[in-house]
Amino acid sequence: MNPIVYALPVFMLTMLIEAMVARWRGVDTYDLPDTLTSLHLGVLSQVASAFTKVLGFGLYVAVYERFRTTDLPTDAAWLWVGALVLYDFLYYWVHRWGHEVNLVWAAHQVHHSSEYYNLSTALRQTSTGAFVVWPFFLLMAVLGVPPVVFGVVALIDLLYQYWVHTEMVGKLGWVDRVFVTPSNHRVHHGQNDYCIDKNYGGIFILWDRLFGTFAAERDHEQIFYGVRKPLASYNAVWGNCNVWRDLWRASRAAWQQQGASAAVAVWFGPPAGWGGTLEHLDTATLHRFDRATPASVRRYAFIQYAITVVCATHFIAIAPQLNWAVRAAYALIITAGALSTGWLLEGRARARAIEAGRLVVVGGLFLALPLWFGWQAPPQVKLAVTALLLTSLAWVAASGDRQPARDA
Ligand SMILES: [Zn+2]
Ligand SMILES: [Zn+2]
Repeated sequence: MNPIVYALPVFMLTMLIEAMVARWRGVDTYDLPDTLTSLHLGVLSQVASAFTKVLGFGLYVAVYERFRTTDLPTDAAWLWVGALVLYDFLYYWVHRWGHEVNLVWAAHQVHHSSEYYNLSTALRQTSTGAFVVWPFFLLMAVLGVPPVVFGVVALIDLLYQYWVHTEMVGKLGWVDRVFVTPSNHRVHHGQNDYCIDKNYGGIFILWDRLFGTFAAERDHEQIFYGVRKPLASYNAVWGNCNVWRDLWRASRAAWQQQGASAAVAVWFGPPAGWGGTLEHLDTATLHRFDRATPASVRRYAFIQYAITVVCATHFIAIAPQLNWAVRAAYALIITAGALSTGWLLEGRARARAIEAGRLVVVGGLFLALPLWFGWQAPPQVKLAVTALLLTSLAWVAASGDRQPARDA
């Protein structure tokens, strides 16, 4: 079982506490459409990893078995500590390239696409990272770090970074100068001029101080979160794809005008372009993406998301037993939920018709099939799903089309 599944209750509880504290302090830190987009991106990232794990971890095991230069004992404490520090060091560089090299940025940018900063932002994870990020960690396989040690330290590094995505924890003194903390990671997510390309660390911020990329949070300058080219969408699939599309177009244009080397240079250039300088951010003209989603649509989307989480948890549990075609079919069903909910939240034309179609097809399949991907649903569950399906369809039919609001 994927260990992330066990962390789900902790994620939910801590997000709830954070939202309550924010409300109590009168801070505008959560926006449900934005949060649901982040959470859908978290789900899609886990679903994608059921396909890309072979590419990533499988490659690690293969390299370890063939090319390792030493045999290290898994029961030595120094190995675990050393592997964590080495992983974090490599993470610093991979993350830095994730901001300085287009090919890696295309995969990483989605993590930065929220204009809010809260624990749900931590779950806004990429689905395309495995294609570009994994090769960098193979050095550890060559050095002889056993796959189990590598897997555990990678998980520790990832889970550590969850708690730092919050505005509810202030500065922590010396801790902010040794470890990655809410204060210095807020800077990493900022669009302000002083925040760009700063604080790449995973667990230790020491790497940034060592390699000249550290910036302390400024007390008298509000941080504006997000990316300079806003995502402006609640569509989790588009959140993953948009920069890949831009790069593809840019490299095709470069190919036509200047030839193959220019096309390759696009992929390895920095996001601001070769020799590009950072434009000054005029924070006075900034506004957060907002489609003025009505409360009823927000509630509906929240309920559909809860169902998606149940399906995704089931998917993650059984994915290893499914063949690739069946796995892909289940992944498509989950992705359709993310897409359709995103369009509803945006108030897009035909979003209700698409949602009705999705409900009929997916709900109908669940009720009609004797087994739902190997699971035989008890009659009570089928009854509950029937009620839920009819209620959802009634809501979709009753809710009127709305004119999407201008970005407020
Ligand atoms: Zn980043
Ligand atoms: Zn982050």
